[in-house]
Amino acid sequence: MNTVPKILLIYTGGTIGMVKDKKSGALYPWDFEVLQERLPELQSLQCDLKVASLSPLKDSSDIGPLDWTQFAVFLSDQYAHYDGFVVLHGSDTMSYTASAMSFMLQRLSKPVIFTGSQLPIGDMRTDAKENLITSIELASLQEEGIPIINELAIYFEYKLYRANRTTKMNADNFEAFWSPNYPILAEAGVRLQVFKDRLLPRSHFPFELFRTLDQNVSILKIYPGITAQHILTFSKINHLKAIILETYGAGNVPSDSSFLNALEKLIASGVFVINITQCMGGEVTMGHYKSSEALLEMGVVSGKDMTTEAALAKTMHLLPLFSEGSEFKKAFENNLSGEQS
Ligand code: ASP
Repeated sequence: MNTVPKILLIYTGGTIGMVKDKKSGALYPWDFEVLQERLPELQSLQCDLKVASLSPLKDSSDIGPLDWTQFAVFLSDQYAHYDGFVVLHGSDTMSYTASAMSFMLQRLSKPVIFTGSQLPIGDMRTDAKENLITSIELASLQEEGIPIINELAIYFEYKLYRANRTTKMNADNFEAFWSPNYPILAEAGVRLQVFKDRLLPRSHFPFELFRTLDQNVSILKIYPGITAQHILTFSKINHLKAIILETYGAGNVPSDSSFLNALEKLIASGVFVINITQCMGGEVTMGHYKSSEALLEMGVVSGKDMTTEAALAKTMHLLPLFSEGSEFKKAFENNLSGEQS
């Protein structure tokens, strides 16, 4: 009887599976079916590995909410047949896709580990091999036949992160991701060290798929010189339902009354406004400074210590479920999948 974990490796696109066009030097996706040939090491792993490629393969800049839905449905169809999943995805929007999955695939009792690489798998100095092999090892970790990791995670450059806590912070370094407000879940050194007390508990309720997203959301970064005019432009966007404001520090905006009135008008027209800090770490505490008190009074939703990526995905996930402002606010401020402290 086969007792090794069954792992499904899904290639969606991105640098990890690309090769260089000899003439132009441009990168293009390559047939992942030949993966085993390129990486004979895979045969020595203690798991039963199956490979699937999504079609068409995409650079992650082209991956968006429609792909997320298709992908979540695909994963949900495969869910019962495997003990763990490894997803190969371009690093550029990996934090967005993986955050979305953490809201769309709820009550997991198996690992779903995203990884990618900065250099193509065929490159001499590639980071792809280590990222891929360790991700499969992490997805295969079990104790008495039960997976140790039961959540959406990203593995990159020796570290495992909670996916919806990450952001891509470097375009060049192998260490491309960072989790500003939550510690790493595991580290790969000579041994794989898993910090079990940081993992989400295994769900005892059945896995649930939430496939519907509403993408009528915008993001606006507050900057010195922003005016009421800029805010009012948003009221011209058809069907806009929510704006994520990337504010200063602990959630602060300019105190200019015309700016604040424009924001209030937008909220009165039914647009939900969510406050996320543009700082790389820390959290929004509205009312801490005078400059955020007005936002609190207007009913702006607090994004607490969430990343912009998680806030965007959470908003798209919650909009179809809650159309009333106070219900949306309550649901948003509640921790769903470990995305906020
Ligand atoms: N542009 C690529 C992508 O995100 C970069 C990468 O794979 O890391 O698809």
